[in-house]
Amino acid sequence: MIIDTHTHIYNEKTYHDYFTKTKGRISKTIAMSSHKGVLENYLSFAATKDNLYFIGSVNIEGDIKKQLESLEKAFQENKLFGIKLYPGYQYFYPSDEKVYPIAELCQKYNRPLIFHSGDVWNPEGDAVLKYSHPIYIDELAVRFPKCKIIISHFGFPYHLETANILSKNKNVFSEISGTIDQCDSNKDIENIQKQYIKDLHRVFAYFPNVKEKTMFGTDYSGEDTPLNLIEPYIEVIENVFSKKEQQNVFSELAEKLFFH
Ligand SMILES: [Zn+2]
Repeated sequence: MIIDTHTHIYNEKTYHDYFTKTKGRISKTIAMSSHKGVLENYLSFAATKDNLYFIGSVNIEGDIKKQLESLEKAFQENKLFGIKLYPGYQYFYPSDEKVYPIAELCQKYNRPLIFHSGDVWNPEGDAVLKYSHPIYIDELAVRFPKCKIIISHFGFPYHLETANILSKNKNVFSEISGTIDQCDSNKDIENIQKQYIKDLHRVFAYFPNVKEKTMFGTDYSGEDTPLNLIEPYIEVIENVFSKKEQQNVFSELAEKLFFH
């Protein structure tokens, strides 16, 4: 069975469409909050599902201390499985001092701190890429060696940089979600998928130890968005990893990081 480590399932419709599409292959699904989402809304929705696990967020421009109090309560009640931050959208580096108390909280409850990294989906045009570059995660990882950190989307398109950071920091991991989206034609999807497989092969040739630090994820965000693919991501894993390695990628590592 598969654990999908990155989705945006937030209501009955996205939940229903996702589980119809995944046809019983997914055992646990991790759902991300946006930095502007309301924690209570997500928590009460996730509580109605036994295969949906919720990741909170912090609006870095808001009252961080207050938000951390609510997140800590959710950790204590075992309703929360990590925290995700959005540096590219909110103009701060992952190595910023503002992030320290968030890393400390994740460390205290042994849940991952996740960063949206690399390319941004930003129709408003106000996101800034330098903040979402994975290189700034290195410094945070060194400062908090006991905090489990996940670089989302393998830092696309900064795959080698992401692998470099994973390779040198024991506490940093990644997942493959979000790179393949619903383009105009199936041919486009196939092309991106082929290229992604090649790129991952290249990265793992240079940094072989990073293979065991990589997880499955889709970034599924709803049928009405370009991020609605499942199968192409499963195929990427099947093409890049051996049968034996696939167990770790599809579920074992996620089980360790999110649920232990
Ligand atoms: Zn996402």
